[in-house]
Amino acid sequence: MDLDDYLKGVVPNEMPPSKFTAIEALKAQAVAARTYALSFRNRYAQDGYQICSTIQCQLYRGVESERPLSSEAVETTRGVVIKYQGQWIDAMYTSTCGGRTEDAANMFRSFDAPYLRGTVCPPENAREIDPRLEAVSGSHLSWTYHVSRADLEKNIQKSLPLDTLVDLKPLSEGPSGRVLKLKVIGLKNDYVLRGLEVKSVLGLKDSLFTMERQLDADGQLISFDFHGRGWGHGVGLCQTGAFGLALEGETFDQILKTYYSGVDIVREVIREN
Ligand SMILES: [Zn+2]
Repeated sequence: MDLDDYLKGVVPNEMPPSKFTAIEALKAQAVAARTYALSFRNRYAQDGYQICSTIQCQLYRGVESERPLSSEAVETTRGVVIKYQGQWIDAMYTSTCGGRTEDAANMFRSFDAPYLRGTVCPPENAREIDPRLEAVSGSHLSWTYHVSRADLEKNIQKSLPLDTLVDLKPLSEGPSGRVLKLKVIGLKNDYVLRGLEVKSVLGLKDSLFTMERQLDADGQLISFDFHGRGWGHGVGLCQTGAFGLALEGETFDQILKTYYSGVDIVREVIREN
């Protein structure tokens, strides 16, 4: 399949133009998705052509999912890719970073890249967030998740052989404020969650949170409140931030350079195979 035809069936699913109405944000997404696909194809060429990885799959939903504005974003950026020291980058992206993205090495085991460094996301970090961002990402920008001890215990047991959940203890946080290490204290055994596991095992939108615990009169833990920001792994291009920057008049290459450190945006002839 032609790469741009593939992208026309990816971009509207990753960033729906019905919500993300700014063409420069869609162009940034198109270039990130193109580069991601090429980088992946390059590394896994021997295994056959399939654009999916354990870290991230791109959502291809076919011709029916194509939309005019996202197709325009793909066409007007034809051949445009992101490179770091001459190589296509692993152009990861995340829905809503909560104000600051995180270093890749802090979120993923045995994966790092010099261009995937945590950075401030200007639109989400603004003193007053643009109401147009609230409209597309409102429930992800900041959230509270209230959960009883018993329900959280059940959630955690889907991933760990935990007996009884006694308590949780955040141990360290990254530059973005994400909880990078968290101890799950059980009756018999404790477990330490790291990186992406923190949010996935607890069942949270993001690991950028603070935690409150509620105790009953006897000092027994009854529930937790997680006050968080963001949705996703928090690494790479922030889609909500990209939309915000595009609304402020930034171009797709400026947007990409905000979230990927030290990269070049170049147009090249891409060999189809
Ligand atoms: Zn952001």
